Amino acid sequence: MNILSGLVLIADLIAIAACLYFVFESKKEQEARAVRNGLAGLLICLVLGIGLFIPVVKMGVILIFILGFIFGLSLFIPARPNEKALKGAKGYLVGNPVRFDERDTVFSRFRSLIPGSKLYDTYYSKLHPEKKDLDAKRREKGFIGNPGSIDNEYQPNIAMMHASFDIPPFLGHYAFNDPEPDVPRAQLSAKKAADIVKHLTLHIGADMVGICKVDPDLVYSHRGEIHYDRQDDWGKEIKDLPSYAVVFLTEMNHGHVISAPHTPTVAESAHLYARGAYLSTLLARWFSYMGYRGVAEHTRNYNIPLPPLAVNAGLGEVGRQGYLVAPNMGARCRIFAVLTDMPLVVDKPICLGVEEFCRACKKCADSCPSKSIPQGKKIVYNGYSKWKLDEDSCYGYWSKVGTDCSICMAICPFSRPNTLLHKIVRLFVARSKVAQIVFPHIDNFLYGKRWRPRKVVPWLDYRKKLDKNEVY
Ligand code: SF4
Ligand code: SF4
Repeated sequence: MNILSGLVLIADLIAIAACLYFVFESKKEQEARAVRNGLAGLLICLVLGIGLFIPVVKMGVILIFILGFIFGLSLFIPARPNEKALKGAKGYLVGNPVRFDERDTVFSRFRSLIPGSKLYDTYYSKLHPEKKDLDAKRREKGFIGNPGSIDNEYQPNIAMMHASFDIPPFLGHYAFNDPEPDVPRAQLSAKKAADIVKHLTLHIGADMVGICKVDPDLVYSHRGEIHYDRQDDWGKEIKDLPSYAVVFLTEMNHGHVISAPHTPTVAESAHLYARGAYLSTLLARWFSYMGYRGVAEHTRNYNIPLPPLAVNAGLGEVGRQGYLVAPNMGARCRIFAVLTDMPLVVDKPICLGVEEFCRACKKCADSCPSKSIPQGKKIVYNGYSKWKLDEDSCYGYWSKVGTDCSICMAICPFSRPNTLLHKIVRLFVARSKVAQIVFPHIDNFLYGKRWRPRKVVPWLDYRKKLDKNEVY
């Protein structure tokens, strides 16, 4: 065997080890198609290895490895950084920005507008008559249908959901915090203050944190959600917010999310909404005791849509499905924030290669049961170029299954567990032009494009139907 054959043999052994590792990880992740493809790759590597010892095919095998080597080298051609992503939300501004009106969100329409009320008439007769019939039909079905209907309203998981959703209403009373009276304003440099607040945020339980200035163009124009029966809040202009935002993420457990659209995933979403409400309230109170304002942004008090805020704070990019895609956890995260006027050093937006990857991937759009995610190009919406989700049809599916679905979160390749395998892939996607073009296709081939719910751990398991007299 000459040197060239020896090198190819070593490369083949490395490829065999890589296939074995891929099969091992894919098995753990319940990716049946990927396991099959990994085993097929293993078989091919074994055959190629044997081919090295057969003179008539030896040159062919060497050629295959040389081509593979060239492809491997091409992955190191650096991608030009996505300048738009590096500018944050502003990078996608293509016209005059129009502030989004919170009254138009699906949540505000269904929770705040009670049929027969003055607000209902104002909204559907003056502001958006075109939404009246569609919304009336949805109301008949109930906004989110019967919670957990897809799992025969499996009580343990739905009780987890309700128990968690009960928490933020207690905390919403403490969302707006002025400086505590008689407390001196803390004298810290912006650098020191940012250092303390970031460590504190992670210490109390957030998984990732960043800081940005509050872009007034991103703030909701008018209040749409009515909490604590404060009817007068509806339609008020939202203004005079503090100018800094501490934005943080909490990671959704992968073992829950893989059940999408079944009840474990909504139990986990609700749990994180409760956690986020607690964390943001605590931080807002901290700012108050430091002599500054602190406004907690959580499910009982939103002044600003959080995905673009998270982008500006350097926590990720927004994907085709409209979720933030963060490093290490992809779309499996929930965003919260605290607004403050304490001067803080801000972070820079980052580029993970999400926009480039999404162009070819389209897994979320292919798997969305309500076809709410666009397959095509971005459009201009409120002055920003974006893939525009059809919220109405998305929430229509929520009401059908009685959960928050989350298939598009679960299937996103960036949402896979943070193992060595996926870390390496993400690294290349962020930095390599070839990886950004080729990896989405390889991913679709290896893992498939269609979603199917995976098994969850036994304590979370749900049963669709029970036989007569059977207990869970
Ligand atoms: S949550 Fe479900 S229905 Fe809504 S966009 Fe995602 S996949 Fe589609
Ligand atoms: S599933 Fe694919 S297309 Fe959808 S957000 Fe994730 S990477 Fe982008």
